[in-house]
Amino acid sequence: MSTSLLYHAFGIRGYHYTRTDYQDGQTIFSIRQEPETCRCSACGSPQVVSRGRVERRFRAVPIGRRATFVVLPIPRVECQACGVVRQVKVPFADPRRSYTNSFERYALELGRRMTIRDVALHLGVSWDVIKDIQKRDLSRRYAKPKLKHLRVIAIDEIAVAKGHRYLTVVLDLDSGAVVFVGDGKGAKALKPFWKRLRPSKAKIEAVAMDMSPAYREAVSTHLPAAQIVFDRFHVMKLFNEKLSDLRRALHREATDVMQKKVLKGTRWLLLKAAENLDEERDEKKRLREALALNQSLATAYYLKEDLRQFWEQPGKRFATVFLDGWIKRAEASGIKMLQQMAKTLAAHRSGLLAYYDAMITSGPMEGTNNKIKTMKRQAYGFRDREFFKLKILAIHETKYELVG
Ligand SMILES: [Zn+2]
Repeated sequence: MSTSLLYHAFGIRGYHYTRTDYQDGQTIFSIRQEPETCRCSACGSPQVVSRGRVERRFRAVPIGRRATFVVLPIPRVECQACGVVRQVKVPFADPRRSYTNSFERYALELGRRMTIRDVALHLGVSWDVIKDIQKRDLSRRYAKPKLKHLRVIAIDEIAVAKGHRYLTVVLDLDSGAVVFVGDGKGAKALKPFWKRLRPSKAKIEAVAMDMSPAYREAVSTHLPAAQIVFDRFHVMKLFNEKLSDLRRALHREATDVMQKKVLKGTRWLLLKAAENLDEERDEKKRLREALALNQSLATAYYLKEDLRQFWEQPGKRFATVFLDGWIKRAEASGIKMLQQMAKTLAAHRSGLLAYYDAMITSGPMEGTNNKIKTMKRQAYGFRDREFFKLKILAIHETKYELVG
């Protein structure tokens, strides 16, 4: 083995190659450091006296399928200037880790194309070793995103585990990047975000969120100049939940077997946007049949499709007329679920109309949520909460496999 191969293949320079051993399918290179090259690791002084060695074994990049290790007796020296005994620096590895820097870079590179599990399997190390390597890399690059440029944001909570465990996510709506992930939900979860936002001097103009009071007050307090927009995505989600409740109640009350069956099969059709109904699968016909059977379900469905038009108006004036008209029709419908919805929308009228000033929606948040859901389903789930949060911060980056 030449010293230049040591450098070019394993990232190790400035050592003497001693020998190679082959044990149990592993390749082990022994190297050593010449005493005259030893320096104090604190002050860099060459005025040092040898005080023995500590043998360390580092995992290096494999040669093909063979695990490869580098064994180095690390010199301990007493510095004449400091008067302290220390190990000399090891430039090719972090002394706290059991692998070389080039091994770490290689594992990161593989992680861009493979799952953690696959990388770990391929390199013959544990899942945690690869996870920790990725975690440090993610932390270096994403732990503290720049906030100065923020202009329009969306705030949302996501359920991450059973038992109502939540994370609060803040999204930059201009870039689609996640800029903050907080523990829990509501005002408290946002505290660290305000703390980082203030010194950034960002001028946030508008914030998209759902209609619950959870974040509303916090945003009014910390961003008094920002416009709050109760956005389309959340309004329609709420409506769909209520529509599902209505269908379920009607199904429960139905006595006719046929009617029960039709209602049962329409759950997803009711929530689908009308233009997305699949003609080939008879979805339009099936929905029409279900709606014909039940007047209140039909009214609720058509008012849902109608409400979507609120976000398609040519301007705020038209939108105002539209919204007020919708609220009146829902109130007059005699259907409790629609009347409740009308009440909610009336109470949030200005925040709904604010869409026509800021023109933002949490649409991109929906995409982010779906990616988070995919991550959640993966094996690692919640084994490391901080890692999970970092992965969310890096979610718009394609450099990593989302799966674990
Ligand atoms: Zn020193």
